[in-house]
Amino acid sequence: MEKQRMFINGEWVDAISKNTRTIINPYNQEIVAEAAEGDERDTKKAIEAARKAFDQGDWAETPAKERGEIVLKIAQLIRENNEELARLETFDTGKTLEESRADMDDIANVFLYFAGLADKEGGEVINSPFPDSDSKVVREPVGVCGQITPWNYPLLQAAWKIAPALAAGNTIIVKPSEITPLTTVKVFELMEEAGVPKGVANLVLGPGHNVGAELASNTDVDLISFTGGIETGKKIMQTASVNVKNIALELGGKNPNIVFADADFDTAVDQALNAVFFHAGQVCSAGSRLLVEDSIHDKFVEKLVERASRIKLGNGFDEDTESGPLISKEHRDKVESFVEIGKQEGAHLALGGKRPEDPQLQDGFFYLPTIFTGCTSDMKIVQEEVFGPVLTVEKFSTKEEAVSLANDTIYGLAGAVWSTDIEKAEFVAAKLRMGTVWINDFHPYFAQAPWGGYKQSGIGRELGRPGLEEYTETKHIFRNKKPEAINWFK
Ligand code: NAD
Repeated sequence: MEKQRMFINGEWVDAISKNTRTIINPYNQEIVAEAAEGDERDTKKAIEAARKAFDQGDWAETPAKERGEIVLKIAQLIRENNEELARLETFDTGKTLEESRADMDDIANVFLYFAGLADKEGGEVINSPFPDSDSKVVREPVGVCGQITPWNYPLLQAAWKIAPALAAGNTIIVKPSEITPLTTVKVFELMEEAGVPKGVANLVLGPGHNVGAELASNTDVDLISFTGGIETGKKIMQTASVNVKNIALELGGKNPNIVFADADFDTAVDQALNAVFFHAGQVCSAGSRLLVEDSIHDKFVEKLVERASRIKLGNGFDEDTESGPLISKEHRDKVESFVEIGKQEGAHLALGGKRPEDPQLQDGFFYLPTIFTGCTSDMKIVQEEVFGPVLTVEKFSTKEEAVSLANDTIYGLAGAVWSTDIEKAEFVAAKLRMGTVWINDFHPYFAQAPWGGYKQSGIGRELGRPGLEEYTETKHIFRNKKPEAINWFK
């Protein structure tokens, strides 16, 4: 089995400690790879390389068009390697191969988008209020960027960070989740092939408490971009204050899916299923809180339960599998404890609430699609991110009540509203305190539109123009064309 190594200063290296970690397939716990397990020392080496590469200025001063061409080449190589990457992602996460293939298409599109944007942000000329002067605003790279990613969309989340950072002329140190490094390692091989210069892009493998924490605390890092859980995000924010780093946080969600009685019933049922059970609910924007208008509530729930009970769990490589396992034993334990809490809080368990009995699934970390009805917003299962196949259902009777329930969590990542009354849908969309709102849809995201959270779902935006701006500093340059003494001080 080939060992997955780190990429530091243009070289593939083992951890200084020589430690490794076993990477398993969550479908059957089979070992799929051995990966180098770095620590603070490897991270410091990578930061040093990125700092040197940035301070030399070659990459930042490379014409934006040329940087864009390299990012474009990465997009092309990802397309050429779509199948291999997709298979690695399925081995690593257990998600279906169809999902992984779609992820790889999205990832190539992210690189394509930022390749095109690289030379479009030329700054602006300001109308100076002073005579005989020039005033302009230029955008420059922030510097050395630490980028920390989670396990649910390993390469997609990395792509949202790597592509804009490189396009804008930064140098980077990427730390993927220690349990899902495979596709990120492969893309570093592709980045090397695409001609990313030595030291510009570095990869450190290993856990958060040392590799991640070093990236957040090291004063040679100018920006830390993190996607993951809210508690880790808070720690990183505190640590990053050491040198007042730029900070970008993409955290969790508890996303409402609001269905009015006038919505297209079958479409709304179908999409409500997809909203929460896609990728076993391990999606930051999962529609895990369903709010249904009371007049259709019972009929809607009945249909939803019937459809959810038929979801086919299995091996991500089998064509008829609709959903894979949870990522790990620890994560399934967490989901199970939330379900126990839901029962104790008095929510009605309408479906699931246990592991599947199918003998074929006993080696994987599977959990059945679970639906709680009769939920109220004071319940922990309504307020906290479960990050698994667990749906809570609440009723509402007016659009104002729907908005009030929908906004009643600490999160503000995404939400959806279903109605054929577009004025009503627009009213709700305007009132939701969330970074993304879908009307009569759930889940679409794409490179051209910004993504990020209100409230405790995060700080900053990825994708779209704001996703590039995140990786730039704004500099105002003022030039006095006829300098003369002011004589303020006599
Ligand atoms: P996590 O917070 O446990 O870990 C995320 C990353 O942070 C991992 O690489 C981990 O090693 C690292 N890390 C852990 N402790 C650290 C520390 N002290 N300092 C620095 N780094 C540290 O999250 P997870 O379980 O991997 O991912 C699931 C979470 O990610 C969910 O909450 C989900 O909502 C969120 N997420 C958000 C988005 C978004 O776009 N907002 C997208 C995907 C996932």
